[in-house]
Amino acid sequence: MEILLVPHPVLRQKANKLKSVTKEDIKFANLMMEVMLKAPGVGLAANQVGILKQIVTINFEDKDNNKKASYILFNPKIIQYSVETVIMEEGCLSLPEQYADIERPKEIVLEYIDDNEKTIKKQIDGYEARILQHEIDHLSGKLFVDYLSSLKRNMLIKKVKKLKNLKK
Ligand SMILES: [Zn+2]
Repeated sequence: MEILLVPHPVLRQKANKLKSVTKEDIKFANLMMEVMLKAPGVGLAANQVGILKQIVTINFEDKDNNKKASYILFNPKIIQYSVETVIMEEGCLSLPEQYADIERPKEIVLEYIDDNEKTIKKQIDGYEARILQHEIDHLSGKLFVDYLSSLKRNMLIKKVKKLKNLKK
């Protein structure tokens, strides 16, 4: 399993909803979790490893709010956004070493299926809400740089291409 970098076309495609969560899906998600931790990253969407399924893994520590969690989400969907927004710096495993301040809703209501096939619905804010919005965007082919001007976006993508060539 390898993390794809921009401008790989799969990163721009929509992931499909799972009809049911199979043992293979759970096995695959656990592998994603391993790859993400090794990268290291705080979130990973299946598109980023070339699989168009609605699967996301999360692992973060929010020291400011004394919160940490590690979990797998199948068919995650944001059903509500707060009007209030916050600006936070974001990065992405598919755009290594690139960062930008992005404005997004502060709070979300999230619904997903967990690895016990239970449907979970919860309200989330802070750093966790930020990671989830970023990862769920991936499932519809959207990247954090899409919130920037096309000039800035193209600059960051160009830098990743250069980085890739250096590593060859
Ligand atoms: Zn990302």
